[in-house]
Amino acid sequence: MTVDNRKILLVEDEAAIREAIVAYLENEGYLVTAVDDGQEALEEFAADFFGLVILDLMLPKVSGEKVCHTIRETSDIPIIMLTAKGEVEDRITGLELGADDYLVKPFSPRELVARVRALLRRAHIADEPAHERLDFGPLVIDVPGHKVTLQDEEVELTASEFKLLVTLSRNPGRVYSRMELVEKVLGYDYDGYERTIDSHVKNLRAKLHDDPREPRWLYTVHGAGYRFENNAV
Ligand code: CA
Repeated sequence: MTVDNRKILLVEDEAAIREAIVAYLENEGYLVTAVDDGQEALEEFAADFFGLVILDLMLPKVSGEKVCHTIRETSDIPIIMLTAKGEVEDRITGLELGADDYLVKPFSPRELVARVRALLRRAHIADEPAHERLDFGPLVIDVPGHKVTLQDEEVELTASEFKLLVTLSRNPGRVYSRMELVEKVLGYDYDGYERTIDSHVKNLRAKLHDDPREPRWLYTVHGAGYRFENNAV
């Protein structure tokens, strides 16, 4: 079996929300497998090749957090996390666990469909030259191979972290605003999701062992955004 980008795994324990999402996605031509707890989610995930996962954070049996963590041990499949209003810390946790994006309830199904489409487009269309290799000394990015090495050790990045790193490092020294990065990395231009970029930057820094107080690669430009520096030695 191979990955089918039309196949979506939806994990949501609230029946009304689940059914509404299924109806919208099926109407858009997606094939949805819907489950209502975290245990079933992991079983379905292991048994099939999905193109994307929509994952509620608060779930019976196995939490969305744990499901996300388990999926990320073996897969960089796009994951959209659903969180209840006010779970600010929780949604940041979701991104730290490796979700690509999140939506806060209540959200419009149309917005969810737009996010799904954007993530799938971004995850699977190769918009890079066939042999692009970004070489910064100890840090090497093989763009078409989706592979990053730091001191010859492979760094495991999610699709969003990878896209963020490539976007910034293609133009060292150029400052990107959070809004620009939302558009380039997540593929849409809604307001209010700049925090997502902050979380992805934080994760990326941790994986690259880049200290924000004394950065080598990723610099915060206060009031402006982020930039990458080529500090190869
Ligand atoms: Ca729930």
